[in-house]
Amino acid sequence: MSQIETAPTEALQKTSHHEQWPQTIYDKCNALARNLWWTWHPEVINLFRDLDPIRWRQLDHNPIALLAEFTPERLEMRASELVLYSRINYAYRRLKEYMANTQTWGRTHAGVLGSKPVAYFSAEFGIHESVPIYSGGLGVLSGDHIKSASGLGIPLVAIGLFYDQGYFKQHLDLDGYQREEYLDTKVENVPMEPALAANGRQITVTIDTRTGQLLAKVWLMRVGRVNLYLLDCDVEGNSPEDRELTSRLYGGDHRTRIRQELVLGVGGVKALAALGITPGVYHLNEGHSVFATLEAIRERMHNDGQSFDTALREVAQHTVFTTHTPVPAGHDRFDGGLIEEHLGPLRDQLRISYEQLMGLGRVEPHNESESFCMTVLGLKLSRRANAVSCLHGHVSRKMWAHLWPWRVEEEIPIGHITNGVHVPSWLAWQMLQLYDRNFQVGWLVRMGEPDAWQNIHQVDPGELWEVHYALKNLLLAFVRRRVSRQCRRRGESDAVVEAARNLLDPNVLTIGFARRFATYKRADLIMADIDRMYRLLNDPDRPIQIIFAGKAHPADEPGKQLIKKIANCRHDDRCASRVVFIEDYDINVCRHMIQGVDVWMNNPRRPLEASGTSGQKVVLNGGLNLSVLDGWWAEAYDGTNGFAIGNGKSHISDQISDQRDGQALYDTLENEVIPLFYERDVDGLPRGWIQRMKNSIASLAWRFSAHRMVMDYSKSAYLTAAGGVSCDMSIR
Ligand SMILES: *Cc1c(COP(=O)(O)O)cnc(C)c1O
Repeated sequence: MSQIETAPTEALQKTSHHEQWPQTIYDKCNALARNLWWTWHPEVINLFRDLDPIRWRQLDHNPIALLAEFTPERLEMRASELVLYSRINYAYRRLKEYMANTQTWGRTHAGVLGSKPVAYFSAEFGIHESVPIYSGGLGVLSGDHIKSASGLGIPLVAIGLFYDQGYFKQHLDLDGYQREEYLDTKVENVPMEPALAANGRQITVTIDTRTGQLLAKVWLMRVGRVNLYLLDCDVEGNSPEDRELTSRLYGGDHRTRIRQELVLGVGGVKALAALGITPGVYHLNEGHSVFATLEAIRERMHNDGQSFDTALREVAQHTVFTTHTPVPAGHDRFDGGLIEEHLGPLRDQLRISYEQLMGLGRVEPHNESESFCMTVLGLKLSRRANAVSCLHGHVSRKMWAHLWPWRVEEEIPIGHITNGVHVPSWLAWQMLQLYDRNFQVGWLVRMGEPDAWQNIHQVDPGELWEVHYALKNLLLAFVRRRVSRQCRRRGESDAVVEAARNLLDPNVLTIGFARRFATYKRADLIMADIDRMYRLLNDPDRPIQIIFAGKAHPADEPGKQLIKKIANCRHDDRCASRVVFIEDYDINVCRHMIQGVDVWMNNPRRPLEASGTSGQKVVLNGGLNLSVLDGWWAEAYDGTNGFAIGNGKSHISDQISDQRDGQALYDTLENEVIPLFYERDVDGLPRGWIQRMKNSIASLAWRFSAHRMVMDYSKSAYLTAAGGVSCDMSIR
């Protein structure tokens, strides 16, 4: 058991007087299942799993669905058979203590936010595989952000959308081609409840457009101490078409998109008002939610009688905008017709003209050929804007320099706060125990600080290697299970299904590659020189094996062709036993992969990776990064804590870049990675490799933790935006 956020006992005694807490084992389990706090507490996860290990897996690790299969009596029986009683009571007491704890970093450092919390807006939240309201990296970042805000005790509420079909499930057909399947989420299995207004009724917000009203109801999901409010258009009163508006992530055309963004931004601000929450800061995570600023301006004009200009200035003062997109084409844009249809009534109340409104979303306000860009609106309506890595900061300042033509590039007001990951969510339980045995008491509370991790250097190399090897075997067991299931689903022969049960070898250098299959991420770079790849895979003494996973956006045909190319390696004798593709990449697949690989490979075309976070998850578990010097790795790599592909130069054409980086990838593998991995001492330990694992953990784990990230946001953005005092005034 680790020491995550220990609580003072007086706080506990105080709350126990006036709150009714459940008494039975059944009620306590349900209470645990209804706060997503459990998702980062391995002892609670193990407890749910032990109730029924097979169903736990079949139900996507969803405790609400699992508990629904138990009557209170059967649960009591099961708990007594397994002597789970004391574990349930203990877990439950820990949750109670956590919720009551006021001795947090946030109390000391962000007290000024007090009753005016940060309102964190994001189009997706990746909290756990059983809550399918995310598609990928942006969502997982938002999930990690609010988990760390909870852990640090920063006053923060989050706003998102409830998608009742989520993102698609991925299956490959016999040709290796991606098929998408959308499943309805059972709302009763989602840990959320109606968000209630003072009158006890579920809150519904109404948004006027030129073509009618749009309604959205509001749900409350508890993520530790953070309340996440989710808007959902599946309400009576909406047209059948609008009831499906929030069904899917990133589906549909521009009109669907702007309507979703209207609900998230404008609807989100209205929901906060209905809840009686007055935010001190609006943190808009990516452009999707930027319409929130316009509704916040309207509120001020209406409530305080301010002019548009005054209200705009004040809202901008309170707004923090984070941009994630390093390519101009990736930013949301809408034409004037869609803007007028959806923001016309709001514009009337803001008492501004169509031209004025359009001007807010244009680089050149009067240029009628420019469409309305959400990122431009975000940059104009926030006093603090940031990119998500140092390199991405440079790219963003260059990309948006023409918004401030009188400034030199270094003075473009876009800073950077590099992304990080929520350590307890991604750290393997076995690794957590190793750290608990070797690190100082309370290290997890201070996981965002360098000192907390330095004891890794004292850990016995054999012990570290043993834990890593155990995790690698768990990954291989997972791969075999999934691949044989994939084969069975495709209707392949028993021999093929059976062969999958023996795939891969735990003693072979294992490389993981999992990310969205977009062409710029170049999943096939390792195939650039196919004979050289065959040689690496089949080297008699020092072979490698590669595990791939990832979805292509349903509309991305080239991305799907890339998947096909990789997946069809299984028909090629020269790589069939050494290259596997795991279908349906999600948080669960990611967790298995990042906890068990030796090496995490990342080779995007520089500088197109804004940050990337999967490699940071690998660090925590002792894996090593092998990456192009892009995104977070450009500032993380120091020559001793992983491996670099190339020298960090960008090339003039994609073709040249692919050629050079392909060569560089092979060179690094052949000259550095493979020799270091296979060089063993008399005990069979790769000493040099283990040293690099330690260097990686000591130098990177704290820096690329979400705790460090959220503390940075707090110190350099939230406190100043809220009007408090801050230690440093600019994000940069
Ligand atoms: C962490 C994570 C990501 C983001 O990783 P990248 O490095 O940005 O590709 C994407 N998808 C899932 C499911 C994740 O867990």
